[in-house]
Amino acid sequence: MSLNFGRTQLSIPGPSVIPERVLNAMHRPSPNIYHGELIDMTDTLFPDLKAVARTKHEAAIYISNGHGSWEAALDNTLVAGDRILVLTTGRFAAGWAEMAQKNGIITDILDFGMQGEADPQKLEEALRADTEGNIKAVLTVQADTASSVINDIPALRKAIDNAGHDALFMVDCIASLGCDRFEMDDWGVDVMMTGCQKGLMTPAGISFVFFNDKAAKAHKRANPSFYWDWTLRANSEIFYQKFAGTAPTHHLYGLREALDILVHEEGIEAAWARHETIAKSVWAAVDAWGNTGAMHHNIADPKKRTVAVSAVNTGVDVAGKLRSWCETHAGVTLGIGLGLAEPDTPQWDQHFRIGHMGHQNIAMVMATLGSIDTALKAQDIPHGSGALDAASTILAGHAVACIEGTSTGAGCCT
Ligand SMILES: *Cc1c(COP(=O)(O)O)cnc(C)c1O
Repeated sequence: MSLNFGRTQLSIPGPSVIPERVLNAMHRPSPNIYHGELIDMTDTLFPDLKAVARTKHEAAIYISNGHGSWEAALDNTLVAGDRILVLTTGRFAAGWAEMAQKNGIITDILDFGMQGEADPQKLEEALRADTEGNIKAVLTVQADTASSVINDIPALRKAIDNAGHDALFMVDCIASLGCDRFEMDDWGVDVMMTGCQKGLMTPAGISFVFFNDKAAKAHKRANPSFYWDWTLRANSEIFYQKFAGTAPTHHLYGLREALDILVHEEGIEAAWARHETIAKSVWAAVDAWGNTGAMHHNIADPKKRTVAVSAVNTGVDVAGKLRSWCETHAGVTLGIGLGLAEPDTPQWDQHFRIGHMGHQNIAMVMATLGSIDTALKAQDIPHGSGALDAASTILAGHAVACIEGTSTGAGCCT
């Protein structure tokens, strides 16, 4: 007999939970795509997307997943035969590098492994060694969704400047935008891309590329395809040119609602503060479980973790059992370990990930943690006690900080 007759919960690091309001906003007949409401509404999306990215520069919308935004960023700024430097800290920048290679771009990789962040010193050295300025772009992710590391984007920017190098700085914020603090203009990022299905809480299917004047200049020597070219997408007065064809009508309505929630109701800084507290509550639970048994964070230093997702090492042979019990008996789906071990090795089954990005509240995070706690007990997996107590103590602290106005997260209770 099962207890699993309630609502299910997806606690993977993307796609994230879609707010009911976003789903409802999409539930409508197809709109007129020639004039009227859809066209006016779409114009309102661009300033709000830029507010989330913290940029005054340009934004283009693509009908694609995050991989499409990778392709767009490459295609608009580089040509085959160009050289780039990719900083890999997990699975995702490595995937972006593979794509660049396939496009004929000469791709140098500085690999920082699955447990570390990109080292600004190493970046500076690599750029100083490029005395002829052959490297056209430096690529990295802000948060790597596989390892759950966060890269220090301002420090990497400083490394490029210290080396006096002219390379474009391109950052993948697919996992982190709307979750971890990100300041495109202040941090000197030239190209940033993201998808809609993680921090932006919209069903997978549209993605965004943001680019500044320096990137627009690089675009002049690139040779983008008609479809990926960002020029008309970012600036055309003609509606269908913004999408190189039919607009992703329902996704745009969903996104409008999601941006209302994120930008106009909660506020981006309050969203960052919420993610930070929720992440800390997850981390406190993992630490408590790890007091007995093998469980520990993939990224040991809390300052180096993204607040969007947590990768957890359970010891060999445990993570799969845990995930499958949670799904079958609790109705909670946890994320698989990604790229942290080779498939079909004993290590393969020793990681899981908890997505805590986007539409998350105390009820949801405690449901996920409570389900894991129950699964550990039900399966006699050695673990420390007090995880839920540790988590709720952190969550209660956020409420207190808000009431007293002492939170460091600006806009916490406004
Ligand atoms: C999810 C993700 C991607 C890939 O996005 P898709 O929509 O699956 O193509 C790329 N980079 C990061 C950091 C991600 O989290």
